[in-house]
Amino acid sequence: MNVISTNTPTAELQALDAAHHLHPFTHAAALNKKGARIITRAEGCWLTDSEGNRILDGMAGLWCVNVGYGRRELADAAHRQMMELPFYNTFFQTSHVPAIALSTKLAELAPGTLNHVFFAGSGSEANDTNLRMVRAYWMQKGQPERQWIISRWNGYHGSTVGAGSLGGMKPMHTQGVPTIPGIAHIDQPNWWSEGGDLSPEEFGLERARQLEAKILELGPENVAAFIAEPVQGAGGVIVAPDSYWPEIQRIVKKYGILLIADEVICGFGRTGNWFGSQTLGIQPDIMTIAKGLSSGYQPIGGSIVSDEVAEVIGSMEFNHGYTYSGHPVACAVALENLRILEEDGIVDRVREDTAPYLKTKFEALAEHPLVGEAKIVGMMGSIALTPDKASRAAFASEAGTVGLICRERCFANNLIMRHVYDRMILSPALVISKSEIDTLIDRAWQCLDETHAKLKAEGMMKSA
Ligand SMILES: *Cc1c(COP(=O)(O)O)cnc(C)c1O
Repeated sequence: MNVISTNTPTAELQALDAAHHLHPFTHAAALNKKGARIITRAEGCWLTDSEGNRILDGMAGLWCVNVGYGRRELADAAHRQMMELPFYNTFFQTSHVPAIALSTKLAELAPGTLNHVFFAGSGSEANDTNLRMVRAYWMQKGQPERQWIISRWNGYHGSTVGAGSLGGMKPMHTQGVPTIPGIAHIDQPNWWSEGGDLSPEEFGLERARQLEAKILELGPENVAAFIAEPVQGAGGVIVAPDSYWPEIQRIVKKYGILLIADEVICGFGRTGNWFGSQTLGIQPDIMTIAKGLSSGYQPIGGSIVSDEVAEVIGSMEFNHGYTYSGHPVACAVALENLRILEEDGIVDRVREDTAPYLKTKFEALAEHPLVGEAKIVGMMGSIALTPDKASRAAFASEAGTVGLICRERCFANNLIMRHVYDRMILSPALVISKSEIDTLIDRAWQCLDETHAKLKAEGMMKSA
């Protein structure tokens, strides 16, 4: 049998990939026609592909490789744990050291009374847990009619049926997913695209008050929880106006509903603090975690819940769990990852040094003729592409057409920068150096210049 390895020619790997591998969130026929880019190695913020190109990864994989690629300590932690205890479950009144140590560490890092962790294998699974947990919580408190969960359009909470229903990605809802009942959506605080004539602060209040209106429409006695990302990630790095979160916080308090902060992207240093809730001034009852928890080296997620939620859930048997809840190897790697983030001072360095450096350069991108707003919090930023800054116009072409052109220029310039419709987003590894930030921004300018030139040549700088 032919051994498939990194020495196999690219065309052959692409053909096998096309023949046998179905990719997530991908138009397979279109991809298979041109062939996937095959990543073979990575170090720090840099990827190498099968053609030997060195690519600057401006997305930290999928927002997750917070400590960067190639950390031997994480490989060693996995190896040690596999030799000692590769698997045991945490059902049936047993536990093991990695799950105990990781939950203890997370309780120490998480703010307020968030002291208890329910482990899952991913962010989607953790949000499925949350969905069931908040409903079980209210049943146990003698208020079983509290079943509704309110979420936001264009929020992302994962791709299982539960998490996909919680999320507000319409293209996911419309594709054969029978979204589960009892979930209502309100509009997102995206001022650039939806703010109209309101100031950002007025708009932030208006969008937050949609939560109150929705609670009143459903009946406050029927609402279990509100879930949101501190900064929307997959929706295009949407940073809410400053007025938004304090008003949300007032409303959830007034009606006594649980607040779930989906920290899957914002957690573990991405915003310059351990959690996005700390940066944005949010006091959640539950936080969803995954991605940066292990820097993506192992699949692991979880829910960190408050003393009060844990007490209520703990007063009955909660009929829920995953074979890999608290997987020992994933926990050991996550714990080592947290040690690196802490002892190398990575979170502090982001907040004090590299994120402010990146912010100055990133916000200057707004001077580019193609760029409207450039928004960044910590190490997650986005730029809105526009044919007309003054009116904040969208392009006449179908939403996403221009973003895709820009992404193709990034691909050609060995920069990973993603597009969400016509916003370009960046979320590099937290260990990115200042000189790498310079390279990142230089390449982004270059890609924007090339996109602008192409749009002008093809008469596409037209407003919708
Ligand atoms: C990625 C993501 C998820 C889903 O996590 P998976 O590990 O892909 O299941 C949930 N919430 C947010 C905010 C995410 O960015």
